[in-house]
Amino acid sequence: MKETDARIRVYLNDPEGRGDRLVDVAPPEKTESGPWGFRVEGKMPEPRAYAPDTSEFLHWQIASALDRGKRLWTRNLPAPGTWIPGPVLPAVAVAGTDLNAYYDRKALRFFRDIDAKTKAVVQSGDSPDIVTHEQGHAILDAIRPDLWDAPHFEVAAFHEAFGDLAAIAVALAEPVLAERALSETKDDAARSNLVSRLAEELGEAVRDNYGPDAAPPGALRDAVNTFAYADPKALPDDAPARSLSAEPHSFCRVITGACWDMLVAIFRASRDPNRPAALARACERMSALAVAAAQTAPSGADFFGRFARRVVREARADDGAELAAPLAQALFARKLLASPDVPPELAPDEDPTVTAPPGESLPTPTLVRAIEARLGPAPGGVLLLAGNRAIAPERGRVLRGRRRRDLFLHGAEYGPADGAAVEISDAFALGFTEAGTLSASRVHNAGEDDADDARAFVRFLARRGRIAPATSAPRTSAELARAGHTHEVVLEEDGVRRLRRAWIARKETP
Ligand SMILES: [Zn+2]
Repeated sequence: MKETDARIRVYLNDPEGRGDRLVDVAPPEKTESGPWGFRVEGKMPEPRAYAPDTSEFLHWQIASALDRGKRLWTRNLPAPGTWIPGPVLPAVAVAGTDLNAYYDRKALRFFRDIDAKTKAVVQSGDSPDIVTHEQGHAILDAIRPDLWDAPHFEVAAFHEAFGDLAAIAVALAEPVLAERALSETKDDAARSNLVSRLAEELGEAVRDNYGPDAAPPGALRDAVNTFAYADPKALPDDAPARSLSAEPHSFCRVITGACWDMLVAIFRASRDPNRPAALARACERMSALAVAAAQTAPSGADFFGRFARRVVREARADDGAELAAPLAQALFARKLLASPDVPPELAPDEDPTVTAPPGESLPTPTLVRAIEARLGPAPGGVLLLAGNRAIAPERGRVLRGRRRRDLFLHGAEYGPADGAAVEISDAFALGFTEAGTLSASRVHNAGEDDADDARAFVRFLARRGRIAPATSAPRTSAELARAGHTHEVVLEEDGVRRLRRAWIARKETP
């Protein structure tokens, strides 16, 4: 038999997903080349249909899920195609004993544990939901590295929502899963189904090992939910899975739920008689809107609102008012918009003396002066460009970026971050005409709300024991993760001690 004829056997959705069973597929090839390349660490087993719970099976299971993600992201987001760690993202199949998985800017790491009730081996790498969620964290980090340790509740929660949306998008790109989602719900996509339910097996094990409040029955999270936006600073630090808390894996469900509502609105508007194909396309459209908004929404306390307003503006520009209206309504119903009427982003700011440089070159001194004049003074602030991204040629060009500033924290309530700084950002966007002269601009100066939010977020991390105590020895993410420390204080080259994130996980260890 030729090697190319070999088949591997994998789960397409989740080991415990209702109706899921092992399927034979072709083994992924050339996973390290092209955009969003990856490598599963360890010796590659001969492609063959292995039995579950073997290391050979786990290798191909992870590779197959990452490859589905690679193909989806190459279609939807061909650039940059390069991860923070480099062109190839390593994945470690079993990094230790835990019911978890995480991304730490070096690799994706998966874990194994025993379900205390069923005695079954639970490997997070067995679930495509989990594998593609972690891959989603790495994708968002590649396109928005500034979100990685932005000290805001809504940014941390958005990272989790993006992971879940990535898992949903990869699942619904599989025709058989779109079909099963609709047959399970009798064509009503607004009802919970095997795709909206995420990490079913791990969720069950989390309940068995940590108690019924640790995850809702049926799955770790469900995108079909009714959670509406509430100020995270007014939410409890932790709550049973059925209610909303400020914890990012709980709070993210507002965005995931709103995005699922948008998917349903697009699906219902479609006249395509092939309903599974309509569902898959609705998911593609929703994902494209979410990705576009994720790329451009300025970081800050109000990140959910900025994301929601950008989604509506993108939909209005690309799909027209008719489709944008039900999407705005869905976001408004989740309290993510103050009104379904979203104003344009950029305010008129015509200035023929300020011109955009052609192509991708860095801004001219005139442009830097123009940006600084609009942002106002900030001693020590560092100007960073998000890239001269062409939003759409017919709409001219928009230059985006941010100014990074240190916010110093003082007080015992910040735990090990007492005396350290966090980064907050002023964002700018300048619109240029086809001729290259400034036509519109918008700045988001981080204000007291953002500073309050950052302080509250770090106090929250300190209360939850998430900040590693100071030590002179450098620590690996594995050591930090074992202790449940997501953040540490790092003495940086400019002599400032800053609070930095070390890893981001499927969940934070209870
Ligand atoms: Zn996560």
